[in-house]
Amino acid sequence: MEVPSDPPERCPVCSATYDSVSVHEAGLIVNMCDNERYRRVCFDPATRGSTPVIEFYHHTHAQIRDEQRAHALTADTPDMSG
Ligand SMILES: [Zn+2]
Repeated sequence: MEVPSDPPERCPVCSATYDSVSVHEAGLIVNMCDNERYRRVCFDPATRGSTPVIEFYHHTHAQIRDEQRAHALTADTPDMSG
C-alpha cells in the first residue's frame, strides 16, 4: 500500500473530511460489512506517472456523522450505506 505525496484536504469524491488515503494499482477486496473504524470508503481514479491507480479515501464514523449534520437541511444525497 502506498500513500499520495500531496493528498487533498478533503475527499475529491464526496468532499467530506477523511482519516486516511491509500493508493492501489492491483486488485483487492473491499469488505463493506460494518467496520469499527470506518463508515465509508470513496474510490477516486488517478495515475502515478503513467500507471493507473485507485485512491481510497477512508472516512470514519464521526466524519460521516459531521458531514450528515452539516448537510441535514439540504440533504438530497443518496444514502450509499446500504
Ligand atoms: Zn469520500
